[in-house]
Order: sequence, then structure tokens, then C-alpha cells
Amino acid sequence: MVRIWALAALAAAIWLLSVFGQARPGALPADAPLTQFSAARADAALGRILGNQAPHPVGSANAEAVRARILGELAAMDVHAVTKTGMTCYSQRRWDNNIPCGTVTNIVAGVAPGAGKAILLLAHSDSVAAGPGAGDDGSGVAILLEVIRALKARGIEGGAERPVIALFTDGEEAGMLGAAHYLSDPLQRARIGAVINVEARGNKGPSYLFQTSAGNGKLIDLYAARVQHYATSSLYGEIYKYMPNDTDLTPMLATGAVRFCCYRRWRPCWCGSGLPPTAKSSWA
Ligand SMILES: [Zn+2]
Repeated sequence: MVRIWALAALAAAIWLLSVFGQARPGALPADAPLTQFSAARADAALGRILGNQAPHPVGSANAEAVRARILGELAAMDVHAVTKTGMTCYSQRRWDNNIPCGTVTNIVAGVAPGAGKAILLLAHSDSVAAGPGAGDDGSGVAILLEVIRALKARGIEGGAERPVIALFTDGEEAGMLGAAHYLSDPLQRARIGAVINVEARGNKGPSYLFQTSAGNGKLIDLYAARVQHYATSSLYGEIYKYMPNDTDLTPMLATGAVRFCCYRRWRPCWCGSGLPPTAKSSWA
């Protein structure tokens, strides 16, 4: 009983912080400098991706249509992208013993070349069957597209400090199938140095950095130094541990080879590699 009340108090504290404790930057308009992330441009991309706003769960014709529109957006930016299709299963779910399986088609885009381990930008293209997936995870897909556009405007395609890959997974809602399929390829798996996963819950509210890998001290320092209006708390991750949810980040973490970040909606966020995953967590 004490634990329940403690969790309730934590939840109330987070709510108070989210409502009263954080200043939010204004969204940049569509005519913002091209090198900047613009929420208005991301919103426009979201509208184009959603099309007729139909649900697009894995395996559906609508999922294929959404994928075609994402590929069209990448092609319009002259970003080389390929699709990778395969049947896969995911057996490491945290909250039930079912092993989901299915055939998925991921989109893998090469955003910037470079030597060494890659930064993987991640969002899922599928939706649940009950809704159009504008927030979860169309907003994540749109954010990635706008980030890619801004990176190209900064000349990143000429070569970056690290390679940058964008992965639009399929079948996340069916049980992280797209991420599992991507990680089943040892070559793809070996390239991952850091993962930035953009996920969503609900359809409004500010964006948060709400989960990272363990050993995140350097990562959080970097985040605090580079993000002007940061919004995060160690409480988010702690509470998330007790929630019956997973994201594509779960199988990425299970590899033990990546450090990650996960956040939501119309604000770019950053994270990168830090200490070994066995190191003690040191959330900001
Ligand atoms: Zn999602």
C-alpha cells in the first residue's frame, strides 16, 4: 500500500512539474531558416504522410500506402532509401509471454555517410488498427523527416562525424517486429552506435526526453548543454519501468550495444553514446 501511495505521489509531482514547471519554446514557422527544425514544416509533412488518415497496421494496404508516401518524401529530399521485408518474431517482451510474429517492411535511409558506428534515427510507420496514428507514431515519422531535411540543409550529406541512418520500422504496434527484424541482421546491428527513438503517447502535450539507457551521465550532460529548453526527469523513466508498455527502444536496449533516447512530438532532441550499459545509471 505504501508503494502505491508513493507512486501516486510521484505521478502527481510529475504532473505538477509538466504543467507549471517547464517553459516551452515557441514552434518555428514554415518559413524558419532551412537549417532549423520547424514544427510547422513537420506538421505539413505529417499531413502528407497520413493522406486519407486511415489506420495503417502492419500488413495492411494502408500501411503500404503510408510507406510509399514516406519513400516519396525521402526521394524528394534526394535521400537514398531501401525497403527490407521479412518475417520475424519478437520474444523479449517485458509484459507478457506471447511471442508476436509477422512479416514487416522497414524503410532504411542513408542520411549521411561517415566512418565508425552510426547514429540511428528511429520512428515506426505503422499505426494501431483503431486510429490513424497521427500522434503514434506519425508525429515521430514527420519529426524524423524534418530533422533529415534540416541536416541536409546544414550540409551533413557531405560527410558527418558519424554516419546517420534513419529507420522507419513496421509492426511496432504488433510487438516491436520491425525493430526485431532490423536487429536480426548482424551487419545492421553492428553498425548501431546510438539510437534516437521518437515515440508518442496521446495526441497533445509537450515533448519529453523520458527514457535513456543506463550509464547516461555523459549523455545527459550533452543533452543539457545542447538543448535550450530541455524537459526531462529521472522520474519519468522510473515510472515507465512499472508501466505495461514497450517501444522499439526495448529491443534496441536488449542488444546491450546501444545507448538511446526517446522523446515525443514537435521538438528535436538529442542523445548519443555514453558509458557501457552495465555502468550505474545516473539520470539527470
Ligand atoms: Zn508508438
